[in-house]
Amino acid sequence: MTQRVYNFNPGPAILPQEVLIKVQKELLNYGGTGMSVLEISHRAKEYEAINNDAISLFRKLMGLDETYKVLFLGGGASSQFAMIPMNLLPKDKTAAYVETGAWAEKAIKEAKKFGKVHIAGSSKDKNHSYIPQLDSLDIPSDSVYLHITSNNTIFGTQWHQFPKASVSLVCDMSSDILSRRLDFKSFSLIYAGAQKNLGPAGVTVVIIKDDLLAKCSDTSPVIFNFKTHAAENSLYNTPPVFAVYMVKLVLEWIVERGGLAAIEKENRAKQSCIYDAVDHNTDFYRGHSEKDSRSWMNLTFRLPSEALEEKFAKESKAAGFIGLKGHRSVGGIRVSLYNAMSLEGAEKLAEFMQKYRKAN
Ligand SMILES: *Cc1c(COP(=O)(O)O)cnc(C)c1O
Repeated sequence: MTQRVYNFNPGPAILPQEVLIKVQKELLNYGGTGMSVLEISHRAKEYEAINNDAISLFRKLMGLDETYKVLFLGGGASSQFAMIPMNLLPKDKTAAYVETGAWAEKAIKEAKKFGKVHIAGSSKDKNHSYIPQLDSLDIPSDSVYLHITSNNTIFGTQWHQFPKASVSLVCDMSSDILSRRLDFKSFSLIYAGAQKNLGPAGVTVVIIKDDLLAKCSDTSPVIFNFKTHAAENSLYNTPPVFAVYMVKLVLEWIVERGGLAAIEKENRAKQSCIYDAVDHNTDFYRGHSEKDSRSWMNLTFRLPSEALEEKFAKESKAAGFIGLKGHRSVGGIRVSLYNAMSLEGAEKLAEFMQKYRKAN
């Protein structure tokens, strides 16, 4: 392999090439320290600057003020399935969850270990091919929070409108964070594993509003308490230093490209390339998700037979398109179009889809 491929992996996933080159350049001698970022103390002023820059970049890109704390934790988004109810769901209280896919199901299972869970809506009846209508959601007014998954990485659905609930909105944004403009202020807690749209695996970002932070239980173990990490600016113990450094570079890359408005514009163009190839060839390609629930990040579709799907995955790989085989719970093909994938990559894949249909 002499050149980079078109990487459509669902996660860990493609990173901006400009960022990788910068990492390579700075690797042996970071900022004149004579050491790699991997080798400096997390208490060093160089790391403190990385930590604080990353925090302010999140606030800047999302339009949030200092009443939102930005935390860099370990454990992956999966650890938040437990940590959120551990902090926020007392045994005798209820949290509302919308069940829109495999990740939401896992979050629900964990929450039940701490308190009561009310299912406010579900798409299970149609193999998670849609997002429930907002006005169909049943959210008890005494819920301590409402949990949703903004983008369903496996099934390929995405929320395009959000509930204006009177309860605190908690959102797993692992696979679409910073992919579009949103009213981030309408959320009380946002979390994301970095390895899809933010950086490498190893850091989980939690953005939590002060009023919700104040409600965190004091009985949970110190290391699993959001208040600990907020009070210590994510430096209570050793954070995933290298991952946070790379996330900072990815955020700078987003700013340089023109921020979320520019990213959204590109993502809109990318997804329409692929969905157009599906919609103009419905004799061959069949989208999994209902149109108004389609994900811009993970696009799922089926072909006329499993044999043709397998052949598609194989031949696309040989043509330089990596990671297109769908998850077993949907089957078929999944195209992951995270921020770092270029419009050119999506266009080339759409051309491949046309050619493949004609040949088969
Ligand atoms: C990948 C993913 C997760 C799990 O992330 P880990 O960091 O592997 O724990 C959770 N939620 C969503 C929406 C995901 O896409």
